[in-house]
Amino acid sequence: MTTNPFRVAIVGAGPAGIYAADLLTKAERDFEVSIDLFERLPTPFGLVRYGVAPDHPRIKGIINALIKVLDRGDIRLFSNV
Ligand SMILES: Cc1cc2nc3c(=O)[nH]c(=O)nc-3n(C[C@H](O)[C@H](O)[C@H](O)COP(=O)(O)OP(=O)(O)OC[C@H]3O[C@@H](n4cnc5c(N)ncnc54)[C@H](O)[C@@H]3O)c2cc1C
Repeated sequence: MTTNPFRVAIVGAGPAGIYAADLLTKAERDFEVSIDLFERLPTPFGLVRYGVAPDHPRIKGIINALIKVLDRGDIRLFSNV
C-alpha cells in the first residue's frame, strides 16, 4: 500500500527556514515527508545574503552549509512567491 507523503510548507528561505527543512527531512519517523520552501525574493538565504556585509566572511560562510541542504534535492524551493 502506498501512502501520500505528509506535506509541509515553510515560508521564508532564510537560515531558519532552511535549517527547519533540513531537520524535518532528517528526523526519525515512519512516514514520508515532502517539504516545499517558499521565498518571496528571487534567491534564498535571507539576511545572510542580503544583510551581512562581505567583510564578514565567517558569517557569510553559513551560506555554504545552506547550499548543501538545498543541493540534496529533497526540498523544493519556490522563489519569487
Ligand atoms: C547587517 C546585518 C548583520 C548581521 N550580522 C550577523 C552576525 O554577525 N552574526 C549573526 O549570527 N547574525 C548576523 N545577522 C543576523 C542574521 O542575518 C540573521 O540571524 C539570520 O539571517 C536570521 O535568519 P532567519 O531565517 O530567521 O531570517 P531572514 O534571514 O530574515 O530570512 C527570512 C526569509 O524569509 C523571507 N520571507 C519573509 N516573509 C516572507 C513571506 N511572507 N513569503 C515568502 N518569503 C518570506 C525573506 O525574504 C527572507 O529570505 C546580521 C544581520 C544583518 C542585517
